[in-house]
Amino acid sequence: MPAAILVLFYLALTCAPLALSALQGLPPRPLRDELASGVALAGLAILLVEFALSGRFRVISGRIGMDVTMRLHQLLARAASALILLHPFLYSGPQSLRPGLTPPGSAPLNFDWPGLWPGIVAWLLLGAVMVMALGRDALYRHEVWRALHGIMALVMAGLGVLHATRAGRYSGDPVLWGFWWVLFAIAVLSLAWVYAVKPLMKARRPWRVSSVTRLADRTWELCLDPEGHKGLRYRPGHFAWISIGEPAVSLDENPFSIASAPAEGGRLRFVIKELGDFTNRLGQVTPGTRAWVDAPFGSLTLQRHDKAGGVALIAGGVGIAPMLSHLRQLDADKDPRPRVLFYANRAEDQIACREELDQRTQTGPLRVVHLLSDPPKGWTGETGFLTPDVLTRHLDAEALKTWVFVLCGPPPMLHAVENALLALGVSPRNILLEQFSYD
Ligand SMILES: Cc1cc2nc3c(=O)[nH]c(=O)nc-3n(C[C@H](O)[C@H](O)[C@H](O)COP(=O)(O)OP(=O)(O)OC[C@H]3O[C@@H](n4cnc5c(N)ncnc54)[C@H](O)[C@@H]3O)c2cc1C
Repeated sequence: MPAAILVLFYLALTCAPLALSALQGLPPRPLRDELASGVALAGLAILLVEFALSGRFRVISGRIGMDVTMRLHQLLARAASALILLHPFLYSGPQSLRPGLTPPGSAPLNFDWPGLWPGIVAWLLLGAVMVMALGRDALYRHEVWRALHGIMALVMAGLGVLHATRAGRYSGDPVLWGFWWVLFAIAVLSLAWVYAVKPLMKARRPWRVSSVTRLADRTWELCLDPEGHKGLRYRPGHFAWISIGEPAVSLDENPFSIASAPAEGGRLRFVIKELGDFTNRLGQVTPGTRAWVDAPFGSLTLQRHDKAGGVALIAGGVGIAPMLSHLRQLDADKDPRPRVLFYANRAEDQIACREELDQRTQTGPLRVVHLLSDPPKGWTGETGFLTPDVLTRHLDAEALKTWVFVLCGPPPMLHAVENALLALGVSPRNILLEQFSYD
């Protein structure tokens, strides 16, 4: 399904409550009251569709990218929260809330307690979820945040639907009533899929750690072997959610790009940088430890670019992981297309898999351009950041026009390089990008 159809589907779903309300043909109310209802209807619809934008559904994140899905999830959540938090203040005043004083011909709002309390609780919960989201990295472990976020969002959505269908002027109508409860059921099912069905499916396909090897400063290679099954079907550029030494049903999962190539067989390899709770402990994981893999995800794959004249891979730090997968598979396929890897690091001891990369330059059509922002004395490679000058020193006009560019690394670097490529005339369609954070 093309991304454009997904966007149209999204717009149709979130605008449907407004259209269904308009079709009811109720007599008009003061503009502020209509606005208050409209804002609440749109906010609730956006909120309910957020469950499908959790990043765990390949039909969405596979089309538009995981980082874009998560960014949209955050931005749309903020839009929905603003609409929902605002709507009680938009009603024109107590007179519009009291049946006796409602303008003639218009239906009164039903502000009885059974309809009101779910709205008040949902409204307060929404404020709490927002505050928690703002402090999520500083205050809790990521897994605690995920669990609380999912549970609170579901309770809030359920109460929101209860409030709309009991107190709303339009949502009591059978069609809109049914629409809300179907959307809520989909939200419940999507959480059940991620936290119950998927883990149970994972439990039938265990993995074992076969090795953990230091590759560079605070950077490890983790290898996993399938146990009793053939392994995973994936493409270079995909990533996996993995958990190690945990039960199959666990919130302790982290996303990592697959660095091995499908051509290597069942073994999965990952290149992982120490950053926090889980990654700092990786060096102590012993071979034989049970692991679980939920994959493949992501859109950093080349399948729509097999006509590209060449491949430019641009990695910052541990962003090398998906590039290794591409290089390994391209070589295994004996793909004759020219390729360049721009590999940016701060210091020389952070360069991972240097020998392997050197060897690939000798046996295949690969050039590697190392960049260091903090080079040692005597460094002969590029220095500083990946600027348009550096790019044009290594890529000719034909490459800028016909190659595909795959970018992965820290967000500031990615955006600077993306802008540089666009300024050099590279088509946005030829740029694939994935960042390792959702912010
Ligand atoms: C699509 C994708 C691919 C990635 N590929 C790689 C890779 O190949 N190699 C690599 O070293 N790193 C990769 N990362 C980053 C990696 O997931 C985080 O560094 C790791 O999860 C940090 O976990 P922690 O417990 O060590 O750190 P924590 O201290 O728990 O967290 C550090 C930061 O990592 C983020 N984070 C933590 N847990 C998760 C989680 N479960 N899901 C999403 N973000 C989380 C949070 O924003 C947090 O601020 C990737 C991230 C994404 C989103």
